Amino acid sequence: MKLRSSLMIFVLASAIATVLPAQQAQDEHKLAQDIYKQLIETNTTESVGNMTTAANDIAARLSAAGFPASDVVVLGPDARHGNIVARIHGSGVRKPILFIAHLDVVEANRSDWSLDPFQLTEKDGFFYGRGTSDVKDGDAILAANFIRLKQENYQPDRDLILALTSDEEGGDFNGISWLLANHRNLIDAEYCINTDGGDFQLKDGKPLLTSIQTGEKLYADFELHVFNKGGHSSLPSPDNAIYHLSGGLVRLSHYQFPVQLNETTRAFFERMSKMNGGALAADLAGAAKIPPDRASIERLSASPYYNALLRTTCVATRLNAGHANNALPQDASAIVNCRIFPGGTQEATQKTLVKVLGDPQIKVSAVAPPHTSPASPLRKDVLEADERVVGKMWPGTPVIPTMETGATDGYRLRDAGIPTYGISGVFIDMNDVRAHGRDERILESSFYEGVDFFYRYIKALSSAN
Ligand SMILES: [Zn+2]
Repeated sequence: MKLRSSLMIFVLASAIATVLPAQQAQDEHKLAQDIYKQLIETNTTESVGNMTTAANDIAARLSAAGFPASDVVVLGPDARHGNIVARIHGSGVRKPILFIAHLDVVEANRSDWSLDPFQLTEKDGFFYGRGTSDVKDGDAILAANFIRLKQENYQPDRDLILALTSDEEGGDFNGISWLLANHRNLIDAEYCINTDGGDFQLKDGKPLLTSIQTGEKLYADFELHVFNKGGHSSLPSPDNAIYHLSGGLVRLSHYQFPVQLNETTRAFFERMSKMNGGALAADLAGAAKIPPDRASIERLSASPYYNALLRTTCVATRLNAGHANNALPQDASAIVNCRIFPGGTQEATQKTLVKVLGDPQIKVSAVAPPHTSPASPLRKDVLEADERVVGKMWPGTPVIPTMETGATDGYRLRDAGIPTYGISGVFIDMNDVRAHGRDERILESSFYEGVDFFYRYIKALSSAN
């Protein structure tokens, strides 16, 4: 999933992208576009697609570019859910960096789209097709850069690992989890850069901000259940399954989890306050204070987006009760969906829910086994290299640390102890986000700038300078 948040900002930043030596850049742009086209035109949906085909195509390109067979592998749990892992060897001064993107895409029906979702279409300066923004742009950009670095005989001071994987959007064969469980040695790294997070945002065609995503909220569903002996509805009593459940849900609707901040969200509020003016700027700065200003927090909490950044949230999303119009309900159930602030656990959240629901008749159970989603430390080296490259390519455009309110493969790596940073490299208009939707597209110019960005960024992270 690529859940692009719309940040509330009202500032224009003007910037001019600097360019790489012309011919080199052109060749690499052409290569990246060829890979992009091949990937878009390979259906990798869960229903009828094949991710192994896409993985094999990339592997063939890497092999042709000089990667030895021992450094390129395609492997997975079955014939359809392949993952490709490749490695450029460094001097070993530092531990490896892992770069990831997913190969699968969300379903797309030809009849819903104005053009074929499984053809790469160039129109009016845009690339159209399923996966153009989520996230075959990232696959193509990383693969093209690994090829270029190999052909340049680049000598990094650490190994660079590329993993393009299956089933991020759903399905039972998530490639990152599978690799961690079965071939951790292949992808083990000091940290990971994930192109499926960390928006680069355009406003009115100009770079507004770039973000670096260091954490994601933890997803957890809980089932609430009330059982009752039921009976004839002509003889009601106050002991009613629906009343028990709805009473608890009303109490939940009035409850707010305590405010939490970490170094990323504090840096987010601090930097965002500088991009805004007036009362909002003051409230954003107030939230970043230690301890945070209560009145500021209260006003910001009225916005669903800021509220979601400030605390764990739990909300009723489904309801089901009764079996006949003229019978007392024998059971009533609901689903409560929680998004837990990084560092929190499913178990602790369940305990809070039980307390807030405040009725022993409401049984609460977790829908899925627990996992965690710790925030990654805001590493200076990763952030400063990012700021340096962004500053060169788009002068004056800020780098904003963010916590995602949705989820990507990043949490699986963080859960396994590998800090992960979402950096997309591709600018998208904040009012034209089409990931998972119809006529998905990105600007051609943004795609090519993404190719250049990662060329510089990978080098900045893997050479002394
Ligand atoms: Zn995605």
